[in-house]
Amino acid sequence: LFITLEGGDGAGKTTQSEMLAGWLEERGHEVVRTREPGGTTLGVELRKLLLHGGSVDPRAEALLYAADRAQHVATIVRPALERDAVVVQDRYIDSSLAYQGAGRVLNVEDVRRISAWATEELQPELTVLLDIAPEAAAARRVARGGTADRLESEATEFHQSVRDGFRALAKADPHRFLVLDATLPPEELHLQIVGRVSALLSR
Ligand code: C5P
Ligand code: MG
Repeated sequence: LFITLEGGDGAGKTTQSEMLAGWLEERGHEVVRTREPGGTTLGVELRKLLLHGGSVDPRAEALLYAADRAQHVATIVRPALERDAVVVQDRYIDSSLAYQGAGRVLNVEDVRRISAWATEELQPELTVLLDIAPEAAAARRVARGGTADRLESEATEFHQSVRDGFRALAKADPHRFLVLDATLPPEELHLQIVGRVSALLSR
């Protein structure tokens, strides 16, 4: 079972993937909790370039994310799924469609094709979208402290386009997506997520 969590920076993806992984492990599943960009040794280097390097041309940026994803799927995700582990992953193709597509105004279908090729069409069975207004997410990031990465420093309009991009993706694929209001208490979100995951596990 391949589960992805999506949403803007500060939406709470990491908290929810930790809680979900714990829940799955208590039920005896092998869980691989991972993320992109940066889930592999190559990915760690790409992540540094993408988030803390100089400015990157949008097409170059999209290809670097696709390279990270290809390495990650080939070496971590597919092997895990083949041995029947549950993969719980922060961000996947939908992030590229929202950030590089909607956010950077690249053609979303182009970005989708690059990702499809990079992953040999591997799709998650469930994608949890933690939906949050950019202003609320920014306030959370400030509260969390630390320095903003290159993307987090982008203008609110950028983050608004990303949010709209995610919501449009969810609307187009309601069967795969579970859209949740990320401002709900973490425990409440967790219950909704495990409700859906239980249904998938008992198919
Ligand atoms: O989720 P995480 O904080 O690890 O993401 C790192 C950064 O990469 C975020 O600022 C996010 O906006 C950006 N990102 C992106 N395009 C992707 C994936 C992540 O711009 N496809
Ligand atoms: Mg972040």
